[in-house]
Amino acid sequence: VAFAAELIAVGSELLRFGRRDGNGDWLQEMLGRLGIEVLGRALVDDDPRRIASQVEAAAARAGLVVLTGGLGPTEDDRTREALAAWTGRPLRRDPDLQRALHARFALYGRTPSPQQQRQADVPEGAIPLDNPVGSAPGLLVARPDVWVVALPGVPAEMRAIADTHLFPRLAARAAGGALRTRVLHVTGRMESDVDAAVADLYEGEGTVVTILAGAGEVHLALRAQGADGVAAGDRLRALEEVLRARLAENVFGADEETLASVTGAALVRAGRTLAVAESCTAGLLAAEVTAVPGSSAWFRGGLVVYADDLKVTLAGVPEALLREHGAVSEPVARALAEGARQRLGADCGLGITGIAGPGGGSAEKPVGLVFVGLATGGGTEVKRLHLPGDRELIRRRTVAIALDLLRRRLV
Ligand code: ATP
Ligand code: MG
Repeated sequence: VAFAAELIAVGSELLRFGRRDGNGDWLQEMLGRLGIEVLGRALVDDDPRRIASQVEAAAARAGLVVLTGGLGPTEDDRTREALAAWTGRPLRRDPDLQRALHARFALYGRTPSPQQQRQADVPEGAIPLDNPVGSAPGLLVARPDVWVVALPGVPAEMRAIADTHLFPRLAARAAGGALRTRVLHVTGRMESDVDAAVADLYEGEGTVVTILAGAGEVHLALRAQGADGVAAGDRLRALEEVLRARLAENVFGADEETLASVTGAALVRAGRTLAVAESCTAGLLAAEVTAVPGSSAWFRGGLVVYADDLKVTLAGVPEALLREHGAVSEPVARALAEGARQRLGADCGLGITGIAGPGGGSAEKPVGLVFVGLATGGGTEVKRLHLPGDRELIRRRTVAIALDLLRRRLV
């Protein structure tokens, strides 16, 4: 059923400027949903011999190798040559691709230069994958034991080709019938805890579950195989039901859903709105919330109140509370939540204060100590947390916990 993948990001700029391999991050996530685990990732410069030797090594270990980058028209784009070298077959100009390239340039009243025409070159035996949003097609070399796929480096082009050509072929190859997948998102329980609760379901009759941990969330990737789509769908649904029954309200969503999107949907259902006042997360919660399209329907706004005097003047935190308990305290989180709710005119207010580190901790108030307040018409509750991890992880976990506190109140 499952086969493993390796990813290769091609491009000197990824090494020289230390740019993140965002294409690889996305491919890893999407392949995971198809039940294809990524076991290795490499960065390589634009040298065709080094690209070819990376492909050679990866193809010996994995059933799928995906390269991104280096398919463009410029001199430094050498992935095509590298694939030809690896297959030992020459590059041939594909007449269909050449026609399409000319047609594309004709739209702008131009003709492709000899250099640009290289984008119509395909290693003999490779299958070109049409690029719906750009000129460089992807390439697929399908051998019985391994598929090697090259995609352009431009993220939108890479995604478009993967979505339209690569993933459907992979799903068909993996299933040999039909394959249905779903990712369940779990929060409020540690990975080891979730693992213990569902481990007996990892391998079932035609079904597989894999567990992946993120910041403040655990993902369960479900896949089910069947003779056809209906059979696979039935199996998937049955498996999902069992998992949901075991994890109950800790399962907050599936597939594209995020904590912010499901919390927003719950607010909309309840006809209520949200406002936030953030100290240590300083806008991260507001950013997460507004990443959800349509969040203006339920999100009023937020205060970033880092300095104590702004907690007083903007969020209405009584000065005496700050003096008595300090900024990182239960009463201040409570006052921030209530201040956000009242001052910003929302039905629900979230208030966050904590010590994200690495400095600023003490024996009494260590790094990772965070208070999250939730104020609604029905009263205010405050959660005291002691979070592990570095500054970024503490801030991201805090945001997840704040959203989850509200979600649980609403459902
Ligand atoms: P082009 O036709 O634009 O030359 P290409 O297939 O040759 O496409 P590259 O030249 O390698 O691709 O990269 C084009 C751009 O795509 C890069 O400048 C960079 O902005 C982006 N890019 C390349 N590789 C990655 C990657 N692994 N992750 C995220 N972005 C990338
Ligand atoms: Mg390029």
